[in-house]
Amino acid sequence: MSGDHVDVPVAARVRRLEARLVAAGLVTDEQLDGILEQHLYRATPFNGARTVARAWVDDAFRELLLTDANAALEQLGLGGLLAPDEHLSVVANTAEVHNVIVCTLCSCYPLLLLGPSPSWYRSDAYRSRVVRDPHGVLEEFGFHVPPGTAVRVWDATAEARYMVLPRRPEATGHLDEEGLRALVTRSGLLGTAGV
Ligand code: FE
Repeated sequence: MSGDHVDVPVAARVRRLEARLVAAGLVTDEQLDGILEQHLYRATPFNGARTVARAWVDDAFRELLLTDANAALEQLGLGGLLAPDEHLSVVANTAEVHNVIVCTLCSCYPLLLLGPSPSWYRSDAYRSRVVRDPHGVLEEFGFHVPPGTAVRVWDATAEARYMVLPRRPEATGHLDEEGLRALVTRSGLLGTAGV
Protein backbone atom coordinates (compact mmCIF):
# COMPACT_ATOMS: atom_id res chain seq x y z
CA MET A 1 0.00 0.00 0.00
CA SER A 2 1.18 3.53 -0.66
CA GLY A 3 0.10 7.15 -0.48
CA ASP A 4 -3.03 7.92 1.53
CA HIS A 5 -3.81 4.23 2.01
CA VAL A 6 -0.95 3.78 4.48
CA ASP A 7 -2.19 2.71 7.92
CA VAL A 8 -5.86 2.70 6.89
CA PRO A 9 -7.38 -0.48 8.37
CA VAL A 10 -8.54 -3.11 5.87
CA ALA A 11 -12.17 -2.71 6.95
CA ALA A 12 -12.02 1.03 6.24
CA ARG A 13 -10.46 0.46 2.83
CA VAL A 14 -13.14 -2.11 2.00
CA ARG A 15 -15.86 0.27 3.12
CA ARG A 16 -14.34 3.01 0.94
CA LEU A 17 -14.36 0.67 -2.06
CA GLU A 18 -17.97 -0.36 -1.34
CA ALA A 19 -19.02 3.30 -1.13
CA ARG A 20 -17.44 4.02 -4.50
CA LEU A 21 -19.17 1.04 -6.12
CA VAL A 22 -22.50 2.11 -4.66
CA ALA A 23 -21.95 5.75 -5.71
CA ALA A 24 -21.16 4.58 -9.24
CA GLY A 25 -24.47 2.73 -9.33
CA LEU A 26 -22.74 -0.64 -9.84
CA VAL A 27 -24.22 -2.27 -6.75
CA THR A 28 -26.45 -1.41 -3.80
CA ASP A 29 -25.69 -1.86 -0.11
CA GLU A 30 -28.55 -4.36 0.07
CA GLN A 31 -27.02 -6.43 -2.74
CA LEU A 32 -23.62 -6.45 -1.04
CA ASP A 33 -25.18 -7.55 2.26
CA GLY A 34 -27.08 -10.31 0.46
CA ILE A 35 -23.96 -11.64 -1.23
CA LEU A 36 -21.96 -11.69 2.02
CA GLU A 37 -24.73 -13.31 4.01
CA GLN A 38 -25.32 -16.01 1.47
CA HIS A 39 -21.58 -16.64 1.22
CA LEU A 40 -20.94 -16.89 4.94
CA TYR A 41 -24.08 -18.81 5.86
CA ARG A 42 -23.07 -21.50 3.45
CA ALA A 43 -19.45 -21.83 4.62
CA THR A 44 -19.47 -24.91 6.83
CA PRO A 45 -17.50 -28.17 7.02
CA PHE A 46 -20.86 -29.88 6.73
CA ASN A 47 -20.56 -29.29 2.97
CA GLY A 48 -17.27 -31.20 2.88
CA ALA A 49 -18.65 -33.95 5.10
CA ARG A 50 -21.69 -34.32 2.87
CA THR A 51 -19.45 -34.65 -0.17
CA VAL A 52 -17.28 -37.30 1.49
CA ALA A 53 -20.24 -39.36 2.72
CA ARG A 54 -21.69 -39.43 -0.79
CA ALA A 55 -18.36 -40.59 -2.19
CA TRP A 56 -18.25 -43.40 0.40
CA VAL A 57 -21.62 -44.79 -0.67
CA ASP A 58 -21.61 -44.03 -4.40
CA ASP A 59 -18.68 -45.29 -6.48
CA ALA A 60 -19.64 -43.33 -9.60
CA PHE A 61 -19.79 -40.12 -7.56
CA ARG A 62 -16.44 -40.93 -5.98
CA GLU A 63 -14.91 -41.38 -9.43
CA LEU A 64 -16.30 -38.05 -10.61
CA LEU A 65 -15.19 -36.32 -7.40
CA LEU A 66 -11.60 -37.46 -7.88
CA THR A 67 -11.43 -36.62 -11.58
CA ASP A 68 -13.60 -33.47 -11.76
CA ALA A 69 -14.45 -32.21 -8.30
CA ASN A 70 -16.14 -29.07 -9.62
CA ALA A 71 -18.57 -31.22 -11.63
CA ALA A 72 -19.17 -33.52 -8.67
CA LEU A 73 -20.07 -30.58 -6.43
CA GLU A 74 -22.40 -29.33 -9.12
CA GLN A 75 -24.13 -32.72 -9.09
CA LEU A 76 -24.54 -32.50 -5.32
CA GLY A 77 -26.11 -29.06 -5.60
CA LEU A 78 -23.01 -27.42 -4.13
CA GLY A 79 -21.76 -25.94 -7.39
CA GLY A 80 -22.28 -22.36 -6.32
CA LEU A 81 -19.78 -22.86 -3.51
CA LEU A 82 -16.78 -22.35 -5.75
CA ALA A 83 -15.74 -19.16 -7.48
CA PRO A 84 -15.75 -19.43 -11.30
CA ASP A 85 -11.94 -19.52 -11.41
CA GLU A 86 -11.52 -21.72 -8.34
CA HIS A 87 -10.44 -25.23 -9.19
CA LEU A 88 -10.94 -27.86 -6.52
CA SER A 89 -8.99 -31.11 -6.45
CA VAL A 90 -10.05 -33.88 -4.09
CA VAL A 91 -7.28 -36.28 -3.15
CA ALA A 92 -8.17 -39.70 -1.76
CA ASN A 93 -6.42 -41.35 1.15
CA THR A 94 -5.55 -44.99 0.55
CA ALA A 95 -3.62 -47.69 2.40
CA GLU A 96 -0.55 -46.51 0.49
CA VAL A 97 -0.89 -42.72 0.62
CA HIS A 98 -2.17 -40.28 3.22
CA ASN A 99 -2.77 -36.75 1.96
CA VAL A 100 -2.41 -33.49 3.85
CA ILE A 101 -3.21 -29.95 2.73
CA VAL A 102 -1.30 -26.74 3.29
CA CYS A 103 -0.86 -23.33 1.70
CA THR A 104 2.82 -22.51 2.13
CA LEU A 105 2.42 -19.02 0.67
CA CYS A 106 -0.53 -17.76 2.74
CA SER A 107 -3.66 -19.64 3.74
CA CYS A 108 -5.59 -20.66 0.59
CA TYR A 109 -8.37 -22.97 1.59
CA PRO A 110 -11.78 -24.12 0.27
CA LEU A 111 -13.71 -21.97 2.75
CA LEU A 112 -17.21 -22.87 1.63
CA LEU A 113 -16.58 -26.60 1.88
CA LEU A 114 -14.67 -26.55 5.16
CA GLY A 115 -15.98 -23.51 7.01
CA PRO A 116 -13.62 -20.90 8.46
CA SER A 117 -10.04 -22.14 8.56
CA PRO A 118 -8.52 -23.15 11.91
CA SER A 119 -5.81 -20.82 13.25
CA TRP A 120 -3.16 -23.53 13.05
CA TYR A 121 -3.76 -23.83 9.30
CA ARG A 122 -2.80 -20.16 8.94
CA SER A 123 0.16 -20.36 11.34
CA ASP A 124 3.75 -19.99 10.12
CA ALA A 125 4.72 -23.09 12.10
CA TYR A 126 2.28 -25.39 10.32
CA ARG A 127 2.89 -23.91 6.88
CA SER A 128 6.64 -24.29 7.03
CA ARG A 129 6.94 -27.51 9.02
CA VAL A 130 4.34 -29.74 7.40
CA VAL A 131 6.31 -29.64 4.17
CA ARG A 132 9.63 -30.56 5.80
CA ASP A 133 8.38 -33.02 8.38
CA PRO A 134 4.82 -34.16 7.63
CA HIS A 135 5.08 -37.28 9.79
CA GLY A 136 6.27 -35.25 12.79
CA VAL A 137 3.52 -32.65 12.39
CA LEU A 138 0.82 -35.31 12.03
CA GLU A 139 2.12 -37.03 15.19
CA GLU A 140 1.66 -33.75 17.05
CA PHE A 141 -1.94 -33.68 15.86
CA GLY A 142 -2.30 -37.14 17.37
CA PHE A 143 -2.54 -38.84 14.01
CA HIS A 144 -0.22 -41.79 13.60
CA VAL A 145 0.47 -42.58 9.97
CA PRO A 146 0.35 -46.37 9.62
CA PRO A 147 3.68 -48.01 8.79
CA GLY A 148 4.07 -48.37 5.04
CA THR A 149 1.81 -45.40 4.29
CA ALA A 150 3.48 -42.48 2.53
CA VAL A 151 2.44 -38.89 3.25
CA ARG A 152 1.82 -36.56 0.35
CA VAL A 153 1.59 -32.82 1.00
CA TRP A 154 -0.52 -30.67 -1.35
CA ASP A 155 0.27 -26.97 -1.57
CA ALA A 156 -2.83 -24.88 -2.28
CA THR A 157 -2.93 -21.63 -4.24
CA ALA A 158 -5.63 -19.07 -4.93
CA GLU A 159 -6.65 -20.98 -8.07
CA ALA A 160 -6.04 -24.57 -6.94
CA ARG A 161 -7.69 -25.67 -3.71
CA TYR A 162 -7.57 -29.12 -2.21
CA MET A 163 -9.73 -31.29 -0.01
CA VAL A 164 -8.90 -34.74 1.32
CA LEU A 165 -11.24 -37.67 0.83
CA PRO A 166 -10.61 -39.69 4.00
CA ARG A 167 -10.88 -43.48 4.00
CA ARG A 168 -14.21 -44.78 5.18
CA PRO A 169 -13.66 -46.12 8.70
CA GLU A 170 -14.02 -49.85 9.22
CA ALA A 171 -17.16 -51.27 10.77
CA THR A 172 -19.38 -48.52 9.39
CA GLY A 173 -21.37 -50.75 7.05
CA HIS A 174 -24.48 -50.26 9.19
CA LEU A 175 -24.44 -46.47 8.78
CA ASP A 176 -26.45 -44.65 6.15
CA GLU A 177 -25.20 -41.57 4.37
CA GLU A 178 -26.42 -39.27 7.10
CA GLY A 179 -24.71 -41.34 9.77
CA LEU A 180 -21.49 -41.32 7.77
CA ARG A 181 -21.54 -37.53 7.43
CA ALA A 182 -21.36 -37.19 11.19
CA LEU A 183 -18.02 -39.04 11.25
CA VAL A 184 -16.21 -36.55 9.03
CA THR A 185 -14.28 -33.72 10.69
CA ARG A 186 -12.67 -30.59 9.31
CA SER A 187 -9.27 -31.98 10.33
CA GLY A 188 -10.03 -35.13 8.36
CA LEU A 189 -10.80 -33.00 5.30
CA LEU A 190 -7.41 -31.29 5.69
CA GLY A 191 -5.56 -34.52 6.40
CA THR A 192 -4.44 -33.83 9.97
CA ALA A 193 -6.81 -36.52 11.19
CA GLY A 194 -7.77 -39.89 9.74
CA VAL A 195 -11.38 -38.93 9.19
FE1 FE B 1 -2.67 -19.11 0.22
